[in-house]
Amino acid sequence: MNEHDEVISLIEENADTLYAPECSPFYSDGYATLHIDMTLMDDEDRRKVYKAEQLLREAGVGFDMGSGGGFRHWELDWSLSGALIQTRPLACLEHPEKVPIVGPVHWATYRTPHNGRVVSYPYCSSLCRSKANEHKAESDWELLLE
Ligand SMILES: [Zn+2]
Repeated sequence: MNEHDEVISLIEENADTLYAPECSPFYSDGYATLHIDMTLMDDEDRRKVYKAEQLLREAGVGFDMGSGGGFRHWELDWSLSGALIQTRPLACLEHPEKVPIVGPVHWATYRTPHNGRVVSYPYCSSLCRSKANEHKAESDWELLLE
């Protein structure tokens, strides 16, 4: 038996364990709440949010939901079932090496020129945010809030 056949044989012998791994839950180190601003939507879009909730439940993904202050809240916490959350630290978008931000986060909210989406980006300092604002203004991004 050559080395290749030995490997194939080993794989076949252990197929059950290779393809049916033991249960290994991934535990998130954080949780999130989605605050969906329903006041910015028309009735049709609000119905889509409720429909999305229904479709997720039907697909086996569940979590606590609620309403308040014009928002729909999706609690992606310990109530979540049928899905996992992966959390990552924020990184300054002015630094190409994407080092996690330590300390206060300096946010800026923009409207993108191509499709008008509103996005909020994190920066490690007010200096980085100012530099980013200059670059984005040159590309016709509209600064909405900082
Ligand atoms: Zn920075």
